[in-house]
Formats: sequence, structure tokens, C-alpha cells
Amino acid sequence: MSLPIIQPTTSKPQKNCCGCGGCESGYVHSIESMGMVDGPGIRTVVFLSGCPLRCKYCHNIDVTVPKSGQSFTPEELVDKVKSNKTYFKSSGGGVTFSGGEPLYQACFLKKCLQRCQKENIHTAVDTSLFTAPKNLKKIIPYTDLFMVSIKQIDVEAHQKLTGVSNEVILKNLKTLAQEKQKIWIRYVLIPEMTNTPEYLKKLVNILKPISPEKIELLPYHQAGANKWKQIGLKNEFEEIRVPTKTEIKTVVEFFEAEKFKVLYNS
Ligand code: SF4
Repeated sequence: MSLPIIQPTTSKPQKNCCGCGGCESGYVHSIESMGMVDGPGIRTVVFLSGCPLRCKYCHNIDVTVPKSGQSFTPEELVDKVKSNKTYFKSSGGGVTFSGGEPLYQACFLKKCLQRCQKENIHTAVDTSLFTAPKNLKKIIPYTDLFMVSIKQIDVEAHQKLTGVSNEVILKNLKTLAQEKQKIWIRYVLIPEMTNTPEYLKKLVNILKPISPEKIELLPYHQAGANKWKQIGLKNEFEEIRVPTKTEIKTVVEFFEAEKFKVLYNS
């Protein structure tokens, strides 16, 4: 059994919608307070339901199910986020919208970001950028930081790994750079699949003109593998090994030699 691949949202706007085809409320899988790894400072991380990708290594596969979790209006959600404002202030933190793919609910996301901005809450969006360019443009004015998760740089390998092409992703990445947005890149290191010299060189060539503030390397791990079984899906990555310390070090040194600021958790 497999989940359907859903293309970037281009559907007609509904009544009362700001225009992206979303609606007055959105679906939230879960909310994590006191997050320390999804952006600067102490953060409230909101995991929005639904994702158009099907990354074979996804450790949040349960979050990709559309309309799962709890329904919130933007007011209700931002009221929850606001309760942690003291921690945001003392740590330079804020809210991070993650998923799933937060831009899967672009209209709802925009409204939440707008409200957070009015409350002077720092906003980050953790995204694959697989969305219609008009959706991305909608949230740019209300987003302080884009944490862009690049899955693969090669078109065919991206299709195999995630089920979709990376064409729109690379176009959206260029748009963020042209609009002078603050960008952090996230890249999962999977032995023989994303960490080969060929792919890393291609990635560097794409990223140089983008000038991300930093690159966060995330070694592939098998946490979350059970979630695939729990929702009745076959996990094709059961046999894939995690990268060794030496492999991780090689990639870190490669990016550092290219003058990127690199972060990684071993
Ligand atoms: S983009 Fe993220 S949430 Fe969506 S399938 Fe890939 S890893 Fe999972």
C-alpha cells in the first residue's frame, strides 16, 4: 500500500480564502514546546499535517497524512504559540512551522505567520519548497527564516527518493535568494544516495549563488521506521545503513572547504 502523491496546490480558492485554495482552519499533527533544534533559540514547533512528497527515509511519515490531527483556526493556534513568548524573548527563539510540508496548507500557514508577525514572534518555516511558486510568494513577507530541506540535487535521483521532481523546488530556492531571504539548508546524508562526490559537487554549484547562512547536515537515522508499519506502509529503507563518523566528517570538510558554515549532529 502507498500514499498518493499530491502535486503542489493550484486548486481554486474557496469562499473566505485568501486565494491559495486553503481554508479558514488548518490541520495540526502536533505541537512541540521548547524545541531547540528547529531554528534559533527556544522554539514552539508546529507540525502541520500533509505532505506532497514521499521521501523513502521519512521519519515523520504519520504527519504526511492530509487532514490528520486536530483542526485549529489561525487565532487558536497563535494563541497557543503566544503562551511561550517569554521563552522566545529570553532565548532569541520563536515559532517554527514544520510538518509534513507546511506549505501544503499555504493559506492557513500565511494567516498564522501574519498573526505571529503582529505579535512580534520570530517565524521560521521548515520546508521542502515543493509548492506552487505563488504559494511561496504569499508567505515571504511574513517569514523571518526559511529552513529548506534539500532532499537530492539530481533530478532523477530526487524523483526516485521522494516520488516527485525537484524542478519547482530549485525554482523556488532561486526566488528566495532573489528576494534576499534568510536561508538555512538542511541535507540528509544517506550513504551512496546523497553523499557521493558527484551529488555534493552539484549541490555546491547550486548553493553558491544562493548563499545560505548555514548548511545543517543530518545523518540518516532509522528512528521513525516503525511509524511506516503503524500506518500500513512498507518501509523500503529498512536495510539502508546509517553513515559512519568518517563519512560524515568527509562531507563536513568538503562543505567547509567551499566556505560554507556547517552544522551537524553526530
Ligand atoms: S518532505 Fe519531510 S515530511 Fe514530507 S515525506 Fe519528505 S521527509 Fe517526510
